[in-house]
Amino acid sequence: MEDVTGLSEMRAWTRSRRARGRRVAFVPTMGALHEGHLRLVDRAREGADAVVLSVFVNPLQFGPHEDFARYPRDLDRDRALAAERGVDCLFAPDRDAMYPAEPLVQVAPGPMAERFEGAVRPGHFAGVLTVVAKLLHLVEPDVAWFGRKDFQQAMLVRRMARDLDFGVAIEVAPTVRELDGLALSSRNAYLTPDQRRTALALSRALRSVEQAWRGGAADPEAVRAAGRAALAAAGVTPDYLALVDEELRDVERVTAATVALVAGRVGTTRLLDNVVLGEGVSGDPTVRRG
Ligand code: AMP
Repeated sequence: MEDVTGLSEMRAWTRSRRARGRRVAFVPTMGALHEGHLRLVDRAREGADAVVLSVFVNPLQFGPHEDFARYPRDLDRDRALAAERGVDCLFAPDRDAMYPAEPLVQVAPGPMAERFEGAVRPGHFAGVLTVVAKLLHLVEPDVAWFGRKDFQQAMLVRRMARDLDFGVAIEVAPTVRELDGLALSSRNAYLTPDQRRTALALSRALRSVEQAWRGGAADPEAVRAAGRAALAAAGVTPDYLALVDEELRDVERVTAATVALVAGRVGTTRLLDNVVLGEGVSGDPTVRRG
């Protein structure tokens, strides 16, 4: 595995490979790698000759009172995990190289970013899309992989690439979960054992939503009520529990393609989860671990 930190070095790395006809796949991350990230690497490798993984904790997407300073960082561990998983190039640029100054121009994410995470975290998606745009311009991959765990983000990246003609294929892989259903997240490291148990309410709520729909309910209110009950039983007040389509619009009737989104705070930690109803929580890949 090659270590790259320089921006022009990164571009040269991909260009030399693409010039030789190699297909390059890209997996952007903020590090603190877990099996969710590493499965993206597996998927990326299946359809490409070389995989680039980036590690960059993007200050632009954190609000002033969010966890930027304490976000878990361990580049040595990330490097070892990436190398072991067959990543060909680890791109870990410095903050000063990425942002020599606060950027005056950012990507305007539009209406898909106004709800859900965008409403709870003002400016978040402008920060996300701006860094993803920069990374895609620096890495110049043929294809980039994102996790469905961050559904709103993945749909926004897909629309940005399409609407602004990035010329890169955007692929979305399913959410990797612990055996008990908890979606893997770097932020799970913040949870105490008690909070870890409470956090299961999110995936449980999604299962309840799914069961209500499988039981024949198609009215969004009726389906959502099942999820709300599961959250209330665990004492979790959701920021939102919604039934949406790929453009993050509320659906009028719940179908197999409908996505149930949930987010809430457990202690001080914000957690998100979602399910494509037709695929189901149990259709998502799992990992064996504590
Ligand atoms: P992050 O480092 O949290 O910014 O995530 C980097 C990429 O990994 C994003 O595309 C995430 O959606 C994806 N990701 C994070 N957690 C998971 C998970 N549990 N399953 C699948 N993808 C994930």
